[in-house]
Amino acid sequence: MQLMKVDRARLQRTMDRMSEVGATPNGGVHRLALDDKDREARDLLKAWCEEAGFPMRIDRIGNMFAQREGRSAERPPILIGSHLDSQPMAGRFDGAVGVLTALEVLRTLDDHRVVTECPIELVNWTNEEGARFRPPLLASGVFAGVYDLDFALAQQDDAGCTIAEELARIGYAGTQAPTAPIGKYIEVHIEQGTVLEQAEVTIGNVTGVVGIRDTKVTVIGEDVHAGPLPMHLRRDALVGAAKMVLAANETGLANAPDARATIGRLAVPSNSHSVVPGRVEMVLDVRHPEAGGIEALQAELEERFREIAAERKLEVLVEEIWSYPPIEFDADLRACIGAAAEAHGYPHMELCSRAGHDAWNIARIAPAAMIFIPCRGGISHNEREFAEEEHIAAGADVLLAAALAASAAC
Ligand SMILES: [Zn+2]
Repeated sequence: MQLMKVDRARLQRTMDRMSEVGATPNGGVHRLALDDKDREARDLLKAWCEEAGFPMRIDRIGNMFAQREGRSAERPPILIGSHLDSQPMAGRFDGAVGVLTALEVLRTLDDHRVVTECPIELVNWTNEEGARFRPPLLASGVFAGVYDLDFALAQQDDAGCTIAEELARIGYAGTQAPTAPIGKYIEVHIEQGTVLEQAEVTIGNVTGVVGIRDTKVTVIGEDVHAGPLPMHLRRDALVGAAKMVLAANETGLANAPDARATIGRLAVPSNSHSVVPGRVEMVLDVRHPEAGGIEALQAELEERFREIAAERKLEVLVEEIWSYPPIEFDADLRACIGAAAEAHGYPHMELCSRAGHDAWNIARIAPAAMIFIPCRGGISHNEREFAEEEHIAAGADVLLAAALAASAAC
């Protein structure tokens, strides 16, 4: 394995400059998919890639690709990257670390005049976060054949703007087909948890991604005036929903350490101080590393929800919004990542990702893997999100070595 190191100072300057785009007062960024700040971030990435001699291609769902040619033009590329969009008022590392370490890998290969077997290609996926347009991981999903292009282009934000309109408005409605053969895919990302930090380990070699199922839970009672009707005659949907939120939390705790069950989105259509709520709509998010674990959690929770509804004379409807099965990453690529971390002397360990990532979609069509770096306190999707400069550089070093090894084996 060739052992090169990236230019840490250049990588940090690049991170710092990107962090200015959509910067928030407390050190985070607000860069929702296809908004004006996302456009600015894309323009900056495009300029950097083109200055370095890697022409930028855009596909029809706005995914951005910059390729550094290899010895053989016929071979599919080793794809490396992540996303530049963010959650609202979120951190500057989630996603950007993966795209900018990929750029640093291309630049370093140029510095050392390395000729790789396969082309090495940077990618910035559109709408990873799903904050403005749902579902998340949308454009990598189109690339992997999980979603139809037309379905994706028609998705609307809360103001009714479609992805197609916003791509055209910001100048990123590309012409390239939204899929292409790829050799392998490697993504660097902050862990967004505390496993690496607690173990004082620099590099996480990700074994796979947990399965996630989101369901819409609608609780139906009856809207009535908060005054005249006696308490015992009420069919208060919000009280039922509150018990369901607690039930989700208790069930998640009871199935530790693997299970996660969360109700993080809740709407009360009446939302009035003098109306007993007759309807509540919420989203239940269930995660588990095993497909059977997801099924068991979901079944247990639906049973609890039905019991709670029956006790309070409510109705409950549960509909699936989306579901991703657990994914295991490619064994050969994981071996490359482990060997790369070892060669550099970076402490490394295997761990499972509990958040969804674009690599999850890409793993369906090509060997894929992820490299995690520590994230302070596990805090992410928050302006306080923080990753150490030396950890980002270590992630880039390992990405470089793993991409080279993967290229040699392709
Ligand atoms: Zn991310």
